[in-house]
Amino acid sequence: MSFKKFVVAVDGPAGTGKSTATKRIADRVGLIHVDTGALYRGIAFQCIEAGFDLNFDESDHAAITKIAQKTRLEFKRVKSRNPSNRLYANGKDVTSQIRTPEMSMMASRVSAVPGVRTALMDLQRTLGKAAPSILEGRDIGTVIFPDADVKFFLTASIDERAKRRLAEIEAQGGDAPSFEEMREQIRARDDGDSNRAIAPLKKAEDAIEIDTTRYTLDEVVDLMVSKIEAEK
Ligand code: C5P
Repeated sequence: MSFKKFVVAVDGPAGTGKSTATKRIADRVGLIHVDTGALYRGIAFQCIEAGFDLNFDESDHAAITKIAQKTRLEFKRVKSRNPSNRLYANGKDVTSQIRTPEMSMMASRVSAVPGVRTALMDLQRTLGKAAPSILEGRDIGTVIFPDADVKFFLTASIDERAKRRLAEIEAQGGDAPSFEEMREQIRARDDGDSNRAIAPLKKAEDAIEIDTTRYTLDEVVDLMVSKIEAEK
């Protein structure tokens, strides 16, 4: 399949299988995968390095915005048996540091700072326009690419999402929290992401909604690929 200009937007809350499905679709259909959550995580990492924690308040917004404006974020594709996109912040590979539960919460907090969202807007649009792309995030279909060629909104029950996240952490050999703690972390992040004033998590009117609770990953990928192929 070949595309000239093509943008696929994939939005939805944490743990719906967005990342895994999006990566597979990118490889299968020949699109560049852009994980926009990683960019917010990169800014969260820089903020923690600068001494901020989850308790920052509005008086810190200017300093946090400055960090977002000054941080140079880049994805580099590493070719190996399992090719992966690595995130560099000011030239440093931060790929593993940004995947902790602490960084998830900090990313959610900094992503509600208006200046941070503005600082990352151009970068996301540039990345999406550089080549036919599939971008995953929270506001791709509503704010970043409202004219995307195909839009998806993935959902799943909170119990299923907690189960998937725990399995992911365990597969990576990390310290998994209890099921209840995981559920609470997801609920808190959903709450912050859905209720923030700017670019809250919500389905674009023209997005295809897929409740992934009862589907396998393969089924979700097949369904999404068939919708993309119909639009090319
Ligand atoms: O997708 P991921 O879980 O890595 O995203 C981390 C956090 O970054 C989300 O909880 C959300 O607050 C924020 N985010 C966002 N807009 C995006 C992508 C992520 O606000 N487009």
